[in-house]
Amino acid sequence: MPDPTPQPPQQPAVDVLVVGGGPTGLTLACDLARRGVRTHVIEAGDQLLPGSRGKSLQSRTLEAFDDLGVADALRAAGSPFPPMQTWRDGERQGEWQLILPDPEAPVSRHPRPWLVPQWRTQDILRDRLLDLGGTLECGARLTSLTQAATHVTAEVTHSDGDRRRMSALYLVGADGSHSTVRESLGIAMKGEESGLRSAVVADVRVEGLDRDHWHIWPDPAGELLLCPLPGASDFQLNAKITGEEFTATPETVRSLVAGRTHLTSDAVTEVRWFSFYRPRTAMAERFRQGRVFLAGDAAHVHPPGGGQGLNIGVQDAYNLGWKLGQVIGCRAPDTLLDSYDAERRAAAADTLDLSTRLYRAGREPQDADEQARYRGRVCHLLSVHYRDSELSTDLRERRSATGHQAGDRAPDLPCVTTEGPCGSLFDLLRSPDFTLLTVNCAPPPEAAGLRTHQVTGGPLAQELGTGLFLIRPDQHIGLAADNSEHLSRYLARVGLRGAGM
Ligand SMILES: Cc1cc2nc3c(=O)[nH]c(=O)nc-3n(C[C@H](O)[C@H](O)[C@H](O)COP(=O)(O)OP(=O)(O)OC[C@H]3O[C@@H](n4cnc5c(N)ncnc54)[C@H](O)[C@@H]3O)c2cc1C
Repeated sequence: MPDPTPQPPQQPAVDVLVVGGGPTGLTLACDLARRGVRTHVIEAGDQLLPGSRGKSLQSRTLEAFDDLGVADALRAAGSPFPPMQTWRDGERQGEWQLILPDPEAPVSRHPRPWLVPQWRTQDILRDRLLDLGGTLECGARLTSLTQAATHVTAEVTHSDGDRRRMSALYLVGADGSHSTVRESLGIAMKGEESGLRSAVVADVRVEGLDRDHWHIWPDPAGELLLCPLPGASDFQLNAKITGEEFTATPETVRSLVAGRTHLTSDAVTEVRWFSFYRPRTAMAERFRQGRVFLAGDAAHVHPPGGGQGLNIGVQDAYNLGWKLGQVIGCRAPDTLLDSYDAERRAAAADTLDLSTRLYRAGREPQDADEQARYRGRVCHLLSVHYRDSELSTDLRERRSATGHQAGDRAPDLPCVTTEGPCGSLFDLLRSPDFTLLTVNCAPPPEAAGLRTHQVTGGPLAQELGTGLFLIRPDQHIGLAADNSEHLSRYLARVGLRGAGM
């Protein structure tokens, strides 16, 4: 006889189970842990994945990392990108820049991309996560999952073969391009194989090359590049391959160097890590299904052109973290979580398109200046906006079409507040919370209990104009209004009213 008494739902041991300890999963876990959300990361590997792979940290990513408290460590671990150095027949052909700064780019405290090997970025995020009280378990692979109305249950297989079930209020699949989470949900990837050339990426030690340049050898079979990695004696090797068949081994990596550069295979003294990949451009049909979310490469894959892959995964995490925090910690309505799919799918689609174009264009020095200017304009991710999102509410009667609107990243400009001058806005915003800016007006009574700054002058006041600006925890403008008429309603949508405020 089945027991007629319904069992009370088991209280999940954690609020959010993050699957995958790559840059996306670790960023999300840091953002959740600093909000007091009980967060556990499971990582299939016995340690975090090695390899310098996503080595470009773009301006917008550095801003998010600044807010999460890891920008200083990343600054210390990295370097600016060195100039490119083209070689032909063993002769230097001259230097050129891969990316030229865009004079019209939005002002950022991190105006240049920063070079950090991905393994180092992961280590820094892991250390931050542990400091914040989150937990990471390596050698723990998600093998299946089921959803109930109140929680998600994951089956986790440990590297010693042991199996266990874990439940959580929410689960995030940040488990990379072959995502088990995505497959368990039956979510299809839509896209194309794209006919792009495959490539070998490796971390190698090389004798006889200076470390002040990113070296490039154009070749009809595919360019070969060697980029010196900061904080290590390694270079990242990147070589496009014609045809489908290639077995990456230390020996084949050495022969590539001997075949396409003026160096001999003996100049490669060590091959520390290598990988062969076929670039694809594809996006998951949905980023949310019930209590489960997809983020990073699990949600979208694209070629590494323009150094965007790691960066958009970090931005997914930065968008999702505060929303989960508000729903779990402040009882914001569940619909807040739907905005993750809407906002990030649109942003990912744009980036996919961009990365594919840049990968096709390659890094040849022809039209170098024009290409470098283009890269400088499009790669920083500072202009990504959520204007079309249901969460972006702009109620101002007079606003210029070219000025900042709800949904835009707030401008990181200096300002004067009633507490004194402030170097730039993001210093005021640095926190997991919403911030209300009242520009040239007094805080309304509805703002009681909210972090509020009264801005009375400076470039920020000029840029935004008079009004109320509610800035989301991810530094985007949520609400822009002439008065407080709709403030309370907006606050309720994001869990800041009716939950003890
Ligand atoms: C060769 C190469 C070069 C690249 N170069 C660049 C570049 O220059 N710039 C750039 O921005 N990006 C680059 N990328 C892309 C970048 O590395 C990825 O976009 C980035 O790693 C995505 O991060 P992620 O956390 O979403 O996924 P991943 O880094 O793939 O992390 C997923 C993690 O989940 C774990 N995992 C998988 N399945 C499970 C499971 N079932 N249970 C538990 N854990 C699981 C994996 O072990 C892994 O640690 C490159 C990628 C490659 C392969």
